[in-house]
Amino acid sequence: MTLLDGVATSLKIREELKEKTALLAASARKIPHLAAIIVGNNGASLTYVNAKVKACSEIGFGSSLIRMPEETTQEELLATIARLNADPEINGFIVQLPLPSHIDEQRVIEAVDPEKDVDGFHPINVGNMALHLPCYLPATPYGILELLRRYDIPTQGKHCVVIGRSHIVGAPMSMLMARNAYPGNCTVTLTHSRTMDLKSFTQAADILIVALGKPEFVTGDMVKEGAVVVDVGITRLPDESEKGYRIAGDVHFESVAPKCSFITPVPGGVGPMTIAALLLNTFHAATKGY
Ligand code: NAD
Repeated sequence: MTLLDGVATSLKIREELKEKTALLAASARKIPHLAAIIVGNNGASLTYVNAKVKACSEIGFGSSLIRMPEETTQEELLATIARLNADPEINGFIVQLPLPSHIDEQRVIEAVDPEKDVDGFHPINVGNMALHLPCYLPATPYGILELLRRYDIPTQGKHCVVIGRSHIVGAPMSMLMARNAYPGNCTVTLTHSRTMDLKSFTQAADILIVALGKPEFVTGDMVKEGAVVVDVGITRLPDESEKGYRIAGDVHFESVAPKCSFITPVPGGVGPMTIAALLLNTFHAATKGY
């Protein structure tokens, strides 16, 4: 069993981007700039968004963190988005989800200029992705593709089973693994909460991508010998540690890992790759666009 090390791989990507950014600054006198909007005080969201902003500064990108209070109205948020859309210094920006319940998330996603939508959530980017046209890929699936690519995992003709059909992970992941590309060219099964006899599908998976948000849900008996397992799940489980919680994935690592050819750890697998993918999208935004 080999670990798909998201920390080491993302550091490599960051090093590559740092070099390219220095070259861009010297040759074109510009540096990529990512802005992030966060509304409210959700602890996990603040951690994620701070990690994204910190990653930017470490590789020489410009970054702006725009913190807005929980009571922010939809109009105020849309006005901030319009300002970032119009600002030539900002190459790409993200609105950290989830948003407070009084704000219509879809309205917000559609307000972002698709050319600055480095999260790849705008319907134009989703449509272009489906048609295999130039677009920003959503960061988590893009990070997973990059991890598979950099470990030379064979995908052509393999049976890829995805658990979860969210707009940000499962659904785009299934489309990307089916595309005529590498990584891709898989036969894909997309499973979800209404799937009957889930185990019969997971046991048939050469590549199993798990994104349902239920800690340690996938156990050893659900996985076939030699499978490649990618665990997207991140759940904070309360414990006695100083932080007061530990991070759990959706895969029961102890029982699943011995059966795998490759597996991502949690933490240290998909999470850091998601940030690396966002940085890649931001670099593209600053250079050639999509
Ligand atoms: P979501 O809640 O939007 O979607 C969960 C999906 O799982 C749904 O489509 C649902 O149909 C499916 N599901 C629920 N119960 C199921 C069951 N018993 N059997 C089969 N399918 C079932 O979740 P999401 O936003 O896609 O996130 C999933 C997990 O991934 C969460 O733990 C989240 O924190 C994590 N996540 C991690 C990253 C990262 O960078 N590592 C990024 C995004 C999400």
